[in-house]
Parts: sequence; structure tokens; C-alpha cells
Amino acid sequence: MSVVDRQEWDVVVVGAGGAGLRAAVEARERGARTAVICKSLFGKAHTVMAEGGIAASMGNVNSGDNWQVHFRDTMRGGKFLNQWRMAELHAQEAPQRVWELETWGALFDRTKDGRISQRNFGGHEYPRLAHVGDRTGLELIRTLQQKIVSLQQEDFRETGDHESRLKVFQECTVTRVLKEDRKVSGVFGYERETGRFFVLRAPSVVIATGGIGKSFKVTSNSWEYTGDGHALALLAGAPLLNMEFVQFHPTGMVWPPSVKGILVTESVRGDGGVLRNSEGKRFMFDYVPDVFKEKYAESEEEGDRWYDDPDHNRRPPELLPRDEVARAINAEVKEGRGSPHGGVFLDVSTRMSADVIRRRLPSMYHQFKELADVDITAEAMEVGPTCHYVMGGIAVDSDTAAARGVPGLFAAGEVAGGMHGSNRLGGNSLSDLLVFGRRAGRYAAEYAAGQTDEGARARVDDAQVGAAAAEALRPFSAEAHEPADGPPENPYTLHQELQQTMNDLVGIIRREAEMKQALEKLAELRTRARRAGVEGHRQFNPGWHLALDLRNMLLVSECVARAALERTESRGGHTREDHPSMDRRWRPANLICSLADPSGGLAATDPERGRIALERQTTEPIRPDLLALFDKEELVKYLADEELEGLSE
Ligand code: FAD
Repeated sequence: MSVVDRQEWDVVVVGAGGAGLRAAVEARERGARTAVICKSLFGKAHTVMAEGGIAASMGNVNSGDNWQVHFRDTMRGGKFLNQWRMAELHAQEAPQRVWELETWGALFDRTKDGRISQRNFGGHEYPRLAHVGDRTGLELIRTLQQKIVSLQQEDFRETGDHESRLKVFQECTVTRVLKEDRKVSGVFGYERETGRFFVLRAPSVVIATGGIGKSFKVTSNSWEYTGDGHALALLAGAPLLNMEFVQFHPTGMVWPPSVKGILVTESVRGDGGVLRNSEGKRFMFDYVPDVFKEKYAESEEEGDRWYDDPDHNRRPPELLPRDEVARAINAEVKEGRGSPHGGVFLDVSTRMSADVIRRRLPSMYHQFKELADVDITAEAMEVGPTCHYVMGGIAVDSDTAAARGVPGLFAAGEVAGGMHGSNRLGGNSLSDLLVFGRRAGRYAAEYAAGQTDEGARARVDDAQVGAAAAEALRPFSAEAHEPADGPPENPYTLHQELQQTMNDLVGIIRREAEMKQALEKLAELRTRARRAGVEGHRQFNPGWHLALDLRNMLLVSECVARAALERTESRGGHTREDHPSMDRRWRPANLICSLADPSGGLAATDPERGRIALERQTTEPIRPDLLALFDKEELVKYLADEELEGLSE
């Protein structure tokens, strides 16, 4: 085994999207020597692809907005399953985080009187998304990278070394979190270009690896999103929360096949785009659920008036939360009223002038022109649901972002569970990254500061490093190439089968028999994945990288399927055809997935039972002053009977 390098840091951040970079800036500013690791080039992360904006109740466009309204919208969007303390902190701190970005050099679009402009988005009562055209994530990442460079320049002036206190390791993949007893001792990973292994020893590790979309066939996610952080946490002994909740964004491209799943931003609807079926009907008016009836327009005329006079009209139903719109599109297609390529029509061309479309939605204009030869200023887009975001994630403490049960492990951003409940509102991710990235960085630095004495700092165990290296080398080994228990397997074939399974059997609409079938298929894929072999060397070898990512996708997919089978109701990003309604009795229930073999081994578990143990836990009661922000008539639609007892009239 060749371990290239062993370095010592105070905080290691795995992931360089918005959450990872914000955590790294905070940890470094609090005095921790901080390393950031990312799978692809520095700056390439989902955060950079975020289009619509950052949700923050600054009240610049409608002064009626404040953190309480944002909190309410977030809880409604998540169907009250949100870890409420996270939703509270998020709503309170998001405006500060946006202002802070401006002081670091971000340039948001402005209102006519020079304030940061805010746009409408699904589920947000007021215009709330601070934005930069439809390239907001790019500005966010650019600003955070600039901040990192400025800190490195500061360090250079003091120490003569730009990377003495803050270093980025790009194109490196972490495959294991290392521990001594219960405590984190560092990470093990490999450089993608050379294939060389490395160990970074650190008392604090922040996981900020984003989503899991690559386990599904149709997805807006790019190649890095194989659920690595979720799996790293599980393998380190930290549980995952509510993994059944996967967001299918209603509008992905459906044609041509090579671009199927690529996102069509919600800003298209926020700025006036409408959804129509093959009969030309604006069908969303037929799909407003009871819990939202009071807030949404009943006629096209009222919905259209809302764009100019939102105080005296209700919003159009195209702006319902994403889960509602995705289900409606799915139903229209299933009923035979879909577009030629199996989606529905999203039209801005009849709603805005060509100039306005090109100015407000420049990326969408180019995306459709270049990828589908569709001019969105003149014709409608064809769109359909695409796997986009995972609400489930690492179970964390709301205030400190500390992962449950593993001292020294923290998580922030999409990989952390709880903040968004059963469904995330658009724009609430970018604000989540900044709010909880900062918190994770702060508490990771504080934890590391308490472990300065060499005796207190967990040591790296060579046996664990050896096991991690052997696990990583397995696809090259004789076990994979001349397996005793069946033919060798191609990692690409396994990946395709996994994606098809998750798409077809644990996708947007779920059924008990299909999820059981999915678990059987996952067990088969798990066995076959042990025989996944690759040719060639460790120097840039994408087949090898995929073979290693398969472990993570299989673990995470099993969590999604097991939790989805267990939750016998429909809520947010989890729709059961056999249990079509939201059931208030499920409101106080969290589903917790942990590794069935807590030693972290992957071989020894019973194939029938799988690798994941599932447990039902009662949620912490929502604080009364937060409940008081809602009318009782609304709460009775969501809360279980025992939670309603004792509520004042
Ligand atoms: P990411 O930005 O996803 O970054 C994850 C990082 O982890 C990357 O650097 C990756 O290389 C690294 N990584 C992963 N695995 C490993 C590993 N094993 N080892 C080392 N590094 C690893 N949200 C909004 O709020 N508003 C929007 O307008 C919006 N638009 C979106 C548009 C698209 C097309 C997509 C895909 C998402 C959009 N989202 C939006 C969602 C939002 O962008 C993401 O949820 C968010 O950016 C996730 O940020 P993150 O910091 O958690 O992780």
C-alpha cells in the first residue's frame, strides 16, 4: 500500500460547494488550519449550477416579508416535518448571510431604487429570492472562492505560504472517515488523476458533499453526486434521517434523450411561464390540494393579475411547491395528455417579449437553443420531472451541525437532513448552505480547538488505513477479475441497472410491491458489485472511480427504498400510490437509517436484511411560540392528535 501523504489539519472539509466553502472560510477565520477536498475542479459543484436565487426575507420588494413568514413557508413546504429549529435559524440568519456575501464582493441584481432585487418562487409568499439573472450559484461560488483567495493572501503575508492555513485539494475523492474509538481522526482518499492515496489527520471533519441524484436515471445532478457523504457518515457510524424524501423537480428537459433530466429553472414559472397539456389547458388549476386552496388563484385571470398586483390577488398554481407540480405533470402524462416526448409544455413565449426572456432567463434561452434547437422566445419548452435534490441526510444537531453519535463529525448543505422536512422550497438550498455551512465551520473549529493537546487528538489507526486502501484496490484484484461466485461485473452496467431500478421502482410514485422488488434487486446488485472489476491502472481511470462510487450509491439507495417502504403515507417528496394521503399520525415520526453492521464492515451482513437498520423515532415537539405563528385551523391539517392537545384556541 502506498499512502502518498499524511498531513495534519485542524478541520477537513469534504466538499467545495457553497456549504463546504462557507464552512472552510468560517473555520479558517476562527483560527483553525483548514483543508478543503473536492472530487472535481475547484469551483465545479452543484452550487455553481443554481439558477434561481437565494431565499432570504429581506423584504426589499415586499416589505411584508420577515423571518416569521419565511419560517412558515418553509414549514408548509416541508409539510411540517422540518427539524423546526433548523428552519427557524435558517429563516432568521439568511438575510445576514446574503448581506455578508455582498460585503465580500457579490453583485446581486437590483430593484429600481438600488436595493437587492428579489424574485418570486414556488411556495414563497413574497418575492424572496436574491438573484443574479439565472446564474446566482455562479456568483455565490465566485464570491466564496474570492474570499478564500483573499484569506490565502493574508496568510502568505504572515507565513510566506499561501496554503499554510487554508488549502484546497481538488480532484480528490474521500472514501472513508477514519476514527479512533468513537472520535473522528481524519479522512482517507485518493487523487483522481494519479490514483495515489492520502490521509489527512484532523479532529474535525465537515461533510459537505451534496446530493445523491446519480442513483436515479433521470436527474438534474452531475457525475459527482453519488451520495458519497451520506455513505461516509453511515460507515463512520452516524445515522441518516428521513431518506425517503427525494425531490423530483417538476421541470427537467425531456428531449433530446442525451439531455433528459437537465434542469429548467423554476424562475421560468416565477417570472410568468405557464404549464399546459397537449390540449392547451393550464392544468395546474385542477391540482391545488386542500391545504393550499386559500392561497392559490382559482382562475387564469386571477393568477395573471397576481404578477402585477400580488396584494389583491392569489398566486397562480404553477407556483405551488415542487412536489405538487411534479405529481400533477406526472398525472397529466399518465392520462395521455402529455407532449410528444413524454412531458408537458412550459411556455414563456406567449407571456413575455423576446427581449425580456433573453434578459431574465439567459441561461435557459441558450440551454434550449443549443441542446434542443428550441427557441423559447417563440415556442414552448417540453418539460417533465427529474430527480433533483435529497431532503433526507445526515442527522445533525440543529445549532451546531454536529453529526449524531460521532464526535468530531459535522455536516452541512444538501448532505445534512432535517432542514427541509419532506420537501424543499426553491431557493432555500443556497440560503441553507450559507447558514449551516457557517455554523458547521464554527463548531468544527471550536471542537478542534478543544483537541489541541496531542493526547486528546484522535490518532490515525494504520489498520484502518490499510483496510481503506484494500477496499479501494479491490476492483483491480483477483477477487474481482476471477471471482469464485460468478462472472466479473462491469461497473457501468451495474450503475445503469441501479439507476433504472431506482427510477422505475422507487421514483416519483411509489408502490409497496415495487419497493420490495427494488430491495431484492439492490441485494442482487450488492452481491454483483463485489465482483466489479476494472482494467488498467490507477492513473485517471473513470471505471475504477465509478466502481468505488457504487458502494455509496448502493448504500444510499437501500436507505431510500427501506424508508420509503416503511412510511405508509404520502408527504412532500414521498408519494405512495397505495397510501395517497398525508396522514397526520406520521407527522411526529422520523425514520432513521444506520448501518446494520456497526463495525463499518460491508461484507458480513445478511443479504435478506440488507445492510441498513431502520428505526422510527419521535420528533422533538415544535416549540409553542413557533406553533403560535400559525392559525389553529391550519395546524389541525398537519399535526397529530397528541400534538394538538393543549394548543390554545
Ligand atoms: P454541492 O454544491 O453539490 O457540492 C458538493 C461538493 O462535494 C463538490 O465539491 C463535490 O466535488 C464534493 N464531493 C462529493 N463527493 C465527494 C467525495 N467523496 N470526496 C471529495 N469531495 C466530494 N438551490 C437553490 O437554492 N436555488 C437554486 O436556484 C438552485 N438551482 C439548482 C440548479 C441545478 C441544476 C441543481 C443541480 C441544483 C440547484 N439547486 C438550487 C440546489 C442547490 O444547488 C444544491 O442543493 C446545493 O448547491 C448543494 O450545495 P452543497 O454545498 O451542499 O453541495
